[in-house]
Amino acid sequence: MTNSDLFPVTLISANTYFAFTPLLASCAVGTLEYRTALESVRAFAPEAHTYLAWCDNINFQKKELTCTPSTSLSLHENKQGGKEPSSLSDDRGNAIVGPKFVLNYDRLVIAVGAYAQTFGIPGVKENAQFLKDVRDARAIRTRILELFGEANLPIMSDAERRKLLHFCVVGGGPTGVEFAAELHDLLATDLTRAFPHLTPMARITLYDVAPQILGSFDQELVKYATDRFRRNGITIKAEHHVERVNKGSMIVKEDGEVPFGLLVWSTGLAANPLINSIKELTKDGKTGSLLVNDRLNVIRDDGQVMEDIWAIGDAAVCEKERLPATAQVAYQEAKYVAKQLNAIAKGGQPSNAAFEFKNLGTLAYLGDW
Ligand SMILES: Cc1cc2nc3c(=O)[nH]c(=O)nc-3n(C[C@H](O)[C@H](O)[C@H](O)COP(=O)(O)OP(=O)(O)OC[C@H]3O[C@@H](n4cnc5c(N)ncnc54)[C@H](O)[C@@H]3O)c2cc1C
Repeated sequence: MTNSDLFPVTLISANTYFAFTPLLASCAVGTLEYRTALESVRAFAPEAHTYLAWCDNINFQKKELTCTPSTSLSLHENKQGGKEPSSLSDDRGNAIVGPKFVLNYDRLVIAVGAYAQTFGIPGVKENAQFLKDVRDARAIRTRILELFGEANLPIMSDAERRKLLHFCVVGGGPTGVEFAAELHDLLATDLTRAFPHLTPMARITLYDVAPQILGSFDQELVKYATDRFRRNGITIKAEHHVERVNKGSMIVKEDGEVPFGLLVWSTGLAANPLINSIKELTKDGKTGSLLVNDRLNVIRDDGQVMEDIWAIGDAAVCEKERLPATAQVAYQEAKYVAKQLNAIAKGGQPSNAAFEFKNLGTLAYLGDW
């Protein structure tokens, strides 16, 4: 008997695909092809009824989800006349518009992840590049090649070339570090072969407000990574504060105006707008994510646990223990909730056993295979 015989599963996904994020830095520099980082959502869950849509609103009383298609649906709009704006925006800050539809649920799993954190710094969304999705990796790869093409033009001065070929990374966590390492390898190999006269003018600078990069790692590993980057010519600017990002330059409190050709912004996570729109549930004060109990159920504002609603992954924080916002955690939480749902569907009770995270280790790739 399949799960869909026991209970119908509806999946609301804004994308047709699941992005395997650990490979995005490699895709952004061309070491890997984009398709290696993509898996079809439907292929993973063929029995589930999948709607390609944004969930805009959750009505906990009526057990209703209001959704907007995540495709443009131009034919439908013409027929229906008009677009209904959502209160949410997508992960690029674009307003979500389109005809709405409502779905009912008996039990709900909220797993909408998180958006990129900008700390409200002006110009980041418009002028920096995030690295959260395959679209970002593709845009970064295109931009790197464009910059070399532009710097190669005979109308450019060397001063202009140095500006264009300054690659800035803001955020010294694993994502920022892995991207800087991959970019260094690209400059040192393929781009040096293609543009030997230009790569000596290229620079990579990694900024962070913290006193060191890879803050969640062991001190010995931090030192190893820092020394290695220094040897590779990657400049680390710790305790530096970006105040504004303009087109082609940013204002850094300690350095003044810093020109760049590409700025990759990776300073952690901000709550998903759907999570922000929820007023009835308890949130984590630091991240704004949904607070969940040890069985991953959400908690109402009055302290009552909602046993028919779970939140997992980057959208949730366990009240028992703050776990890292990683796929490793999201995956183990998903397996735990699936077991609970299957137990309920088979007519039993969900297990009282608390979710236990088994840390399988943490790795940051520093380049050069
Ligand atoms: C570059 C990078 C590298 C990483 N490397 C690692 C690593 O090596 N190891 C590791 O463990 N973790 C890694 N992570 C973290 C990991 O990717 C996340 O922790 C994990 O993806 C979280 O899973 P999730 O399901 O909670 O959210 P997500 O993977 O973000 O999935 C959420 C999904 O919900 C969709 N969505 C959002 N809002 C709505 C809505 N309103 N309606 C419908 N759909 C919506 C989104 O489009 C998305 O498809 C990395 C992250 C990045 C960005």
